[in-house]
Amino acid sequence: MKEFLSTEAYQGIANSIEKGEPIPRDLAEQIASAMRSWAIGKGATHYTHWFQPLTGTTAEKHDSFFEPTADGGAIERFSGDALAQQEPDASSFPSGGIRNTFEARGYTAWDPSSPAFLMGRTLCIPTVFVSYTGEALDYKVPLLKALNALDKAAVEVCHYFDKSVEKVNASLGIEQEYFLVDIALFNARPDLYLTGRALFGHISAKNQQLEDHYFGSIPERALAFMQDMEIEALLLGIPLKTRHNEVAPSQFECAPIYEEINLAIDHNQLLMDLMDRVAKRHNLKVLLHEKPYAGINGSGKHNNWSMITNGGKNLLSPGKTPKNNLMFLTFFVNTIKAVYENADLLRASIASVNNDHRLGANEAPPAIISIFLGSQLSDVLDEIETSRISKKIKEENTLWQGIPKIPQILPDNTDRNRTSPFAFTGNKFELRAVGSSANSASPMTILNLIVADQLKKFKTDVDKLIKKGEKKDVALLMVIKKYIKESKNIRFEGNGYSDEWEKEAEARGLANIKTTPKALDVLVTEKTEELFTSTGVFTKREAHARHEILLESYYKKLQIEARVIGELANNVIIPAAINYQTKLVENVKGLKDLGLDKDTYQAQLDIIIKLSEHINFIKTNVEAMVLSRKEINKVDDIRQKAIDYDEKVKSYFQPIRYHVDKLEQLVDDSLWPLPKFRELLFFK
Ligand code: ADP
Ligand code: MG
Repeated sequence: MKEFLSTEAYQGIANSIEKGEPIPRDLAEQIASAMRSWAIGKGATHYTHWFQPLTGTTAEKHDSFFEPTADGGAIERFSGDALAQQEPDASSFPSGGIRNTFEARGYTAWDPSSPAFLMGRTLCIPTVFVSYTGEALDYKVPLLKALNALDKAAVEVCHYFDKSVEKVNASLGIEQEYFLVDIALFNARPDLYLTGRALFGHISAKNQQLEDHYFGSIPERALAFMQDMEIEALLLGIPLKTRHNEVAPSQFECAPIYEEINLAIDHNQLLMDLMDRVAKRHNLKVLLHEKPYAGINGSGKHNNWSMITNGGKNLLSPGKTPKNNLMFLTFFVNTIKAVYENADLLRASIASVNNDHRLGANEAPPAIISIFLGSQLSDVLDEIETSRISKKIKEENTLWQGIPKIPQILPDNTDRNRTSPFAFTGNKFELRAVGSSANSASPMTILNLIVADQLKKFKTDVDKLIKKGEKKDVALLMVIKKYIKESKNIRFEGNGYSDEWEKEAEARGLANIKTTPKALDVLVTEKTEELFTSTGVFTKREAHARHEILLESYYKKLQIEARVIGELANNVIIPAAINYQTKLVENVKGLKDLGLDKDTYQAQLDIIIKLSEHINFIKTNVEAMVLSRKEINKVDDIRQKAIDYDEKVKSYFQPIRYHVDKLEQLVDDSLWPLPKFRELLFFK
């Protein structure tokens, strides 16, 4: 930027990034022209506003730099207006009723805090997406608002300790899990390419039992893809750092170095797009679905989050001195309290039809939100909770004796607990329950906004005590102590997958909502409305719109899966089974004709009967499922419709699958029409 911009313009954009100040219109002209020169110098022909509508993917509409002139020639143009704002014909993006068809206009507006980038020959400009009436239609607007709220609240709290703090940024490092599959096999599975997951398929004899894939040597074909992807990612400024095999066969993970959160999320969205494109060059397909194959691990997206000041201090990093530790404890305990108070919102922010296969399904984090701290920090909090802030300590101001020593915790020293949805890992919290295909903006908006809200409350509580005459440090510690006590129930160090935990969590009063439609209810409660509007992150209308969009997407995805199950069962599976049965019938007839006795064709008869049993079950249940679907499609109330889809349509999936998978094990392999798990899961 420094090379292409005047000092004034550079300063303008720097201020905008650091302080959120608007960029003066006249500077926009200069910046646009500089961007154009830079992009064209690198071979760009087009530009696009790049945004994140609520479909979950990214959107772009390309325009050429070339504009015709009055004299019949053409010039390359890219004006400040074109940079700052666009009006894509965006009437088909989900808006949850915010945009009427007669007022379908949506605007994209430049987000200078995320750098423009070149994708091939296209200059991409990260933008927000809002309606004509100013409501957010994307993931970025609420995220930026939540970050702003966090910044303000955290800076105020920082000032108890350090007056020089001017800004607090959230940071995020996203670990991304995914599967790779041969593209030819993928294309031979309509369920995979239409829904992203295998709706049928018996588990492979060998799968992940031996744990021989995890951290093993990366198969050459996968490695070639990864290297190619990493280079492309680095060219886009995505700092990919690690790669390894995951638990399931053909499952992998990559992670970048953490970045400022808005950028980290843009980069993850970009990465998901990029992975898929690069994979095609290697005749591979990337599966980002949360649960592509039943019976083996699914995929998540661990969100490593912390808060960092403009001076570079990580607020979640325990310090060496007692004073620093009080500052650490402040942010640490407020985060715990925020999650405790708003666990249901955090749960809603990761809810999706795909993630329902993970959460609470005995492998990924459970649907119960709890927090893992590790034994050292649990002890520290327990000690504070039971300690007495005695009169003597107060009077003599020997408060520091009241703060337990916090060992310098290196990330490697913290306990590992893979079953916890929200774990402290040394100098950051890790939200592990996010789905692999999700836009992290959804949970990160919630996390940052609840912590912002909590910090605001903390400040009020502390100031009240100071006003009453308590010394500042005493007041801080008293409130921290109170919060530790109040939020204790959400702390859990044990095995999150166990049945005992489900029972204990219930006794503790923690929510355990297993399915999306009900998990989403919290988005539209009064308590949430108050929280959303007081932090300024969502208006009531926006929250209701999102609720509706999520419910709609939920039932539509189940509707598609149900249709694919019906089609595959009727047109592919049953005919294959009949085909095999016919062969057997001919065989039996032949043996009979030879005059052989029944012993020689008893096995065939048994198989013939079994085939019929499975065929009958599948056919009857597919028919019943279709009837049920037709009934539910008449339901107007969208929440009820989503619940009905879960309880009265999805409930057919497993039983039908069971019988299809039984057929897979019975039918002649050469007649079986779908690639099997053993073929999909192991690279050749
Ligand atoms: P693990 O979770 O296995 O310990 P790492 O320590 O490598 O793995 O961290 C995983 C991710 O967390 C990486 O993307 C890393 O950059 C990120 N990370 C590390 N420190 C922070 C931090 N302070 N804030 C946010 N993300 C962080
Ligand atoms: Mg991790």
